[in-house]
Amino acid sequence: MRNYCTLTDKLTLPERDAMAFVFPPHLPAALPVAGSRDSFPVRRVYCVGRNYADHAREMGAADQAEGREPPFFFMKPGDALVGGAGEISVAYPPLTKNLHHEVELVVALGSGGADVGVDTARGLIFGYAVGLDLTRRDIQARAKEKGHPWDMGKGFDQSAVAGVIQPVAQVGHPDRGRIWLTVNGEIRQDGDLAAMLWKVADIIANLSTLVRLAAGDLIYTGTPAGVGPLLPGDVLEGGVDGVGTLCARIV
Ligand code: MN
Repeated sequence: MRNYCTLTDKLTLPERDAMAFVFPPHLPAALPVAGSRDSFPVRRVYCVGRNYADHAREMGAADQAEGREPPFFFMKPGDALVGGAGEISVAYPPLTKNLHHEVELVVALGSGGADVGVDTARGLIFGYAVGLDLTRRDIQARAKEKGHPWDMGKGFDQSAVAGVIQPVAQVGHPDRGRIWLTVNGEIRQDGDLAAMLWKVADIIANLSTLVRLAAGDLIYTGTPAGVGPLLPGDVLEGGVDGVGTLCARIV
């Protein structure tokens, strides 16, 4: 019997240094950084589910009367990110009749690690941004019903929206303050960072037990109550006190 592991493929490959790609590799998605000409290259996009009690309630989750459940995470592909300064154009995605907005504080990591302690977790943070975790709610609801993965409800093209990254050096570590979203000038979401069930340091520490974090990772930290449907033409403005604002148009 042939042992395929020791066969020639590996040996006949050219040296790694000499290898060319069969097509140009994709550049990472990137976000502008306030006060800098350089941009922030995005690696992975992590998201925390149900991190505000009022939003967990509106999604029909049972009240966590006997203490918090551990945080849970899902992901979007790094290239699902769209963002920047000024008005961000977001294409209304296919195969949904119920595209929802979720305004969130986004954490941008400047370094990484595994099994990071809560006490040192903030040291990994490069900066913060305002973001939108766009969700095909109907596809997500069907996935929940069937016990299927959430990916196609959460991780579609342009599903992760983010504004300019504000470096920690300029904004510190915001842990309280208003987080809000208007659609066509009408307030839809209005919460406070202080209501996060799992704080940013806890989130980083917990997530780093599951995966090794690295520079370029973004973490969407959950949304307060008031999520709802969007339509083509809608103009969204969101903000987090002490971090900044974001403007997007659904096209
Ligand atoms: Mn979310």
